[in-house]
Amino acid sequence: MKKIKLGVIPGDGVGVEIMPYATQVLDVIAQVHGGLKFEHSWYPWSCEYYLEHGEMMPKDGLDQLSQHDAIFLGAVGNPNLVADHTSLWGLLINIRRGFKQTLNIRHAKQLRGITPMVINPNGFDLIVVRENSEGEYSEVGGRIHSGEDEVVVQNAVFTRKATERAMRYAFELAKTRKGHVTSATKSNGIVFSMPFWDEVFDQVGKDYPDVEKRSAHIDALAAFLVSKPSEFDIIVASNLFGDILTDISAAVMGSIGIGPAANLNVDGSYPSMFEPVHGSAPDIVGKGIANPIGQIWTGKMMLDHFGETELATQLLNIVEDVTEAGIKTPDVGGKATTSEVTDEIVSRIKQLT
Ligand code: ATP
Ligand code: MG
Repeated sequence: MKKIKLGVIPGDGVGVEIMPYATQVLDVIAQVHGGLKFEHSWYPWSCEYYLEHGEMMPKDGLDQLSQHDAIFLGAVGNPNLVADHTSLWGLLINIRRGFKQTLNIRHAKQLRGITPMVINPNGFDLIVVRENSEGEYSEVGGRIHSGEDEVVVQNAVFTRKATERAMRYAFELAKTRKGHVTSATKSNGIVFSMPFWDEVFDQVGKDYPDVEKRSAHIDALAAFLVSKPSEFDIIVASNLFGDILTDISAAVMGSIGIGPAANLNVDGSYPSMFEPVHGSAPDIVGKGIANPIGQIWTGKMMLDHFGETELATQLLNIVEDVTEAGIKTPDVGGKATTSEVTDEIVSRIKQLT
C-alpha cells in the first residue's frame, strides 16, 4: 500500500468550505486505485487562528509540516480580520521559503463545458513555470531622503542557479508535451536581468535540441495569452512576470475558481505545496456555491507529482464530463452548489471500479 501523508491547511473563507470535498475526492480516487492511501492531518492555521494566537501558524509549524509528503492548502486571507501582507507572509510565503519551493507551476486548459474568456476553436492547454524564489520580489533596495528629493530603489535578483532550475524544469516538461517553450522576457527594456534571462534560456535550451525555443516580450505575451492561448504549451517566466501571466491564464479559462497550482520543492528535500489559484473569496463565503474544481484539479496535480498520472488524467477527464453535463457552480454559468458538483464527480469516480 502506497501511503501519502498530507498536511491539510484549509485556511480561510471558501478554502474551509471546499477542502472537505476535495479531500473526499482524493480518498475516493485512492479507493479506486486500491493500492493508494492518503493520510491527512488537518491544521487550522488561518486568519481566525491569528486572532487567537497572534500568529498565522505556530513557531514549530514548519517542523510539523515537514513530517508530511505534501501540503494541501485551501486559501489564505481575510482582509476584514488580518492585513493581507500579514496573512500572506505569515503562512504562504513562510512555507514557500522555508521549504524551498522554488517553482510555481500552474496549468490552464479550456475545459469542456466551461466557456473561456475568448472562444478558441482549437481550445488551449498550457502550463506556466514561474520562478518562485527571487527575481523582482527581492528584499534588496531602500529609500533615502524625503519630500521632493525622495529616492526609492528596488532591486531584482537573478541567480544562475535559480534561473537555470526554472528553465530546465520547463524544457523537461515540454519534452512530455507539445515540445515548445516560450520564455517571457523584456530584454528590450530591462538591461541587466532580462538579457541574462535570455542567455540562460539559450544555454539550457541547447541541452534540448528537440524542444522548440520561443521568446516573447512580456507585454505582447500577456496580450497573446488572452487572444491566442492555443499558441502556447509551456511558458517559463520570472517571479513577477509569472505572477501576472498565471492570473491571466486562470481568468482566460473562464473563472479564477478553477485554476490549480503547485509550489514545488524540486530536489525533494522538503514537501511541495499544492494550492488553487483562487483566494478566500469573501464575497461568496457561506453560500455553498464556491467552485471546488480549482482545489480538485490541484489534487490532480498532486497525483501527478506522486507518479499517479493515469488516475490524475482520469480525474480531470471526469471533472470535464461533469462540467460538460452542465453541473457547474454559478461562477462558470451553472446553478449547482459546491456539494452537488463534488457529489457528481465522486459518483463518476466510483464508476471507474
Ligand atoms: P486573494 O487576495 O486571497 O488572492 P482575491 O480577492 O485576490 O483574494 P479571490 O478571493 O480569488 O481573489 O476572489 C476573486 C473573485 O473570484 C471573487 O469575486 C470571488 O468570489 C471569485 N472566486 C474566487 N474563488 C472562487 C471559487 N472557488 N468559486 C467561485 N468564485 C470564486
Ligand atoms: Mg489575489
